[in-house]
Amino acid sequence: MAGRCWTPPRAEATTSPAPLSPPGAAATLPPVALYLHVPFCVSLCPYCDFVVYAGAEARGPRSRVGAFTDALLAELSLRADALDAAFPSRAPLETVYLGGGTPTLLPSAAIASFLDLVRARFGIAEGAEVTIEANPGADERGTAADLAVAGVTRVSLGAQAFDPGQLRRLGRRHRAADVAAAVREAHAAGIRSVSVDLLYDVPGQSVEAFGDALAQAVDLGVDHVSAYALTLDDPDAEGLTGEDGDHLPTTPGARRWRAGAIREQDEERAAAQYLLAVERLAAAGFRGYEISNWALPGRESRHNLVYWQRRPYEAVGPGAHAFDGVVRRWNAARLDGYLRALAGPGGTPRLPPGGSETVDAETAAAEAVILALRLDTGLDPDRPGAAPLGPHLAWALDSGLLERTGTPDAPRVHLTTRGRLLSNELFSRIV
Ligand code: SF4
Repeated sequence: MAGRCWTPPRAEATTSPAPLSPPGAAATLPPVALYLHVPFCVSLCPYCDFVVYAGAEARGPRSRVGAFTDALLAELSLRADALDAAFPSRAPLETVYLGGGTPTLLPSAAIASFLDLVRARFGIAEGAEVTIEANPGADERGTAADLAVAGVTRVSLGAQAFDPGQLRRLGRRHRAADVAAAVREAHAAGIRSVSVDLLYDVPGQSVEAFGDALAQAVDLGVDHVSAYALTLDDPDAEGLTGEDGDHLPTTPGARRWRAGAIREQDEERAAAQYLLAVERLAAAGFRGYEISNWALPGRESRHNLVYWQRRPYEAVGPGAHAFDGVVRRWNAARLDGYLRALAGPGGTPRLPPGGSETVDAETAAAEAVILALRLDTGLDPDRPGAAPLGPHLAWALDSGLLERTGTPDAPRVHLTTRGRLLSNELFSRIV
């Protein structure tokens, strides 16, 4: 979203090493996490590849928010029915994540109705993390007190930048003061965990300007920072935007904006900005627990750790992806088909269109290694599950992309800072 969001008491987040299963050991498992995709924003940022409907579809008399709310509740019930049949006595969810889009555009009552149904049908564990993504603008960030009452424990704010020129260039509606107000309101409502998303490698953004954004984020008292390089992909060219695709077609205006922005991106500046994030956030007490994510102790995103540890998760909403340990499933992105299926012929809701793929053992093993290497905990290179790394280990160590840590009895390898910058070179060899 909003870039790509707690009340104590809660279990401490852990970044214990990702489980590396030997090939062939995969099994279908009940979800430990749930993602809900809310596909509405006030306006469309030109770099955005998320499933988003904006403008009149998001607000006003022709808005489709009401129909979507009914549909999402219907999908939650259908997904819960299927899980009840497969896993009659499953454990309650460890994390819930409302992402988008801008979920806080929805009325507080709609958000509460989602979480009430999730609690009733899936269960939410004591001390679970319940995150909501929000945009910082006054008319987009929702009411923090209502979110806290609904059960939200963490807010992820799509700040992206603080500089007015940068915000305008990115097509963002908010001002720096809105980010500060959003953090204050969340804290005042008892939501102690607030994350801020920042972008680097943005056209016209100096290394110093990104450093200022890092400093302003830290000064706000947030406990988590995500910093992503601006990526300008072309989902149409990648074949992701067909009828059952998980992306929406790129608008002509966004296509023109991206063509211009790509010309102003600069790998060397991006590397300098990333190194600045590593240095400044470490100095402020944040741990870079994942390539693009930094947290104060115990404040890692437990939901995103589920993805990186390759644990099973359920997902609902247009374009949302789920994984049960063997099969990856996605809903089609298009809202019309989503609403039609869940309104149901004759009033009987059906699951929405989409697709699925079974992840073969070889792919699963490579994915597990890559995901483990994204985390600062790395992996044990001697474990059978690390086999996909074996042919590349010596090269990666010699190249300074990986380093050995741990003890002879418990060896580990993990990415160096240089390895984080060049991780794609290693990952492309492993897959
Ligand atoms: S705020 Fe912008 S980047 Fe975030 S989901 Fe909405 S349109 Fe996309």
